[in-house]
Amino acid sequence: MEMEKLVSLCKRRGFLFQSSEIYGGLNGFWDYGPLGVELKRNIKDAWWRDMITGHDDLSVLTGAPAKYQMVGLDCTIIMHPQVWKCSGHYDLFHDFMVDCRQSKKRYRHDQVRGRWVEAKGKKIFVSTTAEAAEEEAETERKALKFFKLRSKNADELSWTSDFVSLSAMSDFAEVLGPDANELGTLTPPREFNLMFKTIVGALGSEDDAAFLRPETAQGIFANFKNVVDSSRVKIPFGIGQVGKSFRNEITPRNFTFRSREFEQMEVEFFCRPEESQEWYKYWRDRRYQWYLDLGLADERLQLRDHDSDELSHYSTGTADIEYAFPFLPSGEFGELEGIAHRGNFDLRSHMEGKLNPNTNPLELETNEHGQPKHRGSGKDLSYRDKETNERFIPHVIEPSAGADRAALAFLCEAYCEDEAPDEKGKMQSRTVLKLHPRLAPIKAAIFPLVKKDGLPELAQQIYRELKQDHNVFYDETGAVGRRYRRQDEIGTPFCITVDSQTLQDKTVTIRDRDSLEQSRINMNDCATEVARRIAGKGKVCSENPS
Ligand code: ATP
Repeated sequence: MEMEKLVSLCKRRGFLFQSSEIYGGLNGFWDYGPLGVELKRNIKDAWWRDMITGHDDLSVLTGAPAKYQMVGLDCTIIMHPQVWKCSGHYDLFHDFMVDCRQSKKRYRHDQVRGRWVEAKGKKIFVSTTAEAAEEEAETERKALKFFKLRSKNADELSWTSDFVSLSAMSDFAEVLGPDANELGTLTPPREFNLMFKTIVGALGSEDDAAFLRPETAQGIFANFKNVVDSSRVKIPFGIGQVGKSFRNEITPRNFTFRSREFEQMEVEFFCRPEESQEWYKYWRDRRYQWYLDLGLADERLQLRDHDSDELSHYSTGTADIEYAFPFLPSGEFGELEGIAHRGNFDLRSHMEGKLNPNTNPLELETNEHGQPKHRGSGKDLSYRDKETNERFIPHVIEPSAGADRAALAFLCEAYCEDEAPDEKGKMQSRTVLKLHPRLAPIKAAIFPLVKKDGLPELAQQIYRELKQDHNVFYDETGAVGRRYRRQDEIGTPFCITVDSQTLQDKTVTIRDRDSLEQSRINMNDCATEVARRIAGKGKVCSENPS
């Protein structure tokens, strides 16, 4: 699938728009249009329902080590600045950037790649930020220009290395920057904190600086004690949150994949340390299955365990769920969700703010005046098992997903071009979004075949009935074939048509978007049939209508 086609469909049909487009847009910010907002809401609702409210506290689910509880939270975007000191974001949430003195452009250090080339007795490193598929052609073009050679003399260029990242180099004197035409214009890499800073209060000074949250997780840790004290949850249990996060990404790119404002769907799952590995495995597999159940294809999805050198210092295991996005070079995958075993790092650091694993977490270190020496809250965030009276700091498993990346993956997977018969039975090409019915923005479209003989009135009656439970759409304009096509393109799984036969026997046709199968059902059964098909994952009904 060509990404441009999906991007254009998203704009044309109102899934996604560039933020502030009338002012030329703002890089890294995206707005969801009338259909996009429904899609994203359906993803977040499916997640909330499947992970939180629909979870059965009373049973052991397949694969789960034991019974567990799930509750939700909705925390603020701006939190006490100390939260980010304790979480490590203030000190460690950095990327490296390089600036170009000539082009005035800024790049993420690890995203600039290049190769060494020699010509006319001089050796230079030609760099680029182009995608892997284009970097060879791009560096050749730049080298020819630099050495003032024509394309037909490309064999005078002798390439002396493979592509390497700029981050592997220590000296940039011989480097030709991605948008420069002279050597040595790139500055040495500088650290750049990804958190957006703001000032709280009208008279605020630098002392009142605060940050927009770069993840939703910390609100959960900060409220751990509140939830335990107020909701009778017992370990093992999880707290989920869905909400906006902000990261001042140096190079936002690939449509919404890397944005500066995005939404996360996160669970912090609290368990006993000795059971944590089992829970880690459970959540890894459960989250992978969730994407499969909602329609991502197994061959484009992978669960990748981090190598030990990729792990954060506190983590004993992290796995990423990755999807083969079409804008990536073939064979490469992009992260949809990370599932991390975070040990007791977060609760401990909010308790005392010390990261030394050798100190007893329940005893705060003191300074020379006998006062607790901590950066954290100083509050006891340990958990007491009421049955055994044991006190411990729970271990945490964190499945952390991005709602925008999930929306993008579902759209990429759903986009398809095939053929469907028109009114006369002639095959015509069509664009179709084969979205899972749970995710589809509109669940069913209702059409009167013609705008007369009382058909619109009957169709509107069905529309009103379905509207009580689903987002449905009524359309009476144009040829019915075109109406089908308009719905196919936005992923509407079912189309219901009222025709002259409806006047005689009260049956209507229901057409399935993917199989194109049409069956007749009683018009009074439309609501149950649509609900049944959505619940049955859109499988086409094989029974005859009564
Ligand atoms: P990446 O390596 O791609 O920057 P990350 O490892 O920093 O991602 P996490 O901190 O694990 O990401 O965040 C959890 C999830 O939040 C990611 O799997 C992704 O779905 C989403 N996410 C993170 N950063 C962004 C972003 N800039 N734009 C959109 N979604 C994001």
